Amino acid sequence: MIRLILYGILFYVGYRILKPWVASLLQSNKEDVHGQSSSQEAELIRDPQCGTYFLTQRGVEARIGGRTVYFCSRECRDKYLVSHRET
Ligand SMILES: [Zn+2]
Repeated sequence: MIRLILYGILFYVGYRILKPWVASLLQSNKEDVHGQSSSQEAELIRDPQCGTYFLTQRGVEARIGGRTVYFCSRECRDKYLVSHRET
């Protein structure tokens, strides 16, 4: 009976050790997907005002007509907003 419990513990410990190892193997297979998603986050987008390409994270965010538009600088954002108000 004690032996059965010991086997049970061994199985449990083995399972606990193997589980993260298997999970890491599965994650390494999904690395391509992760790489794509991270590259999308650091995607270059075009400033609609001056046409400069820049990283989304470094851009200035503005909500125009319920849509999020990114600009390379606050100056460009303000110019864009002004020109859109006029039209
Ligand atoms: Zn700009």
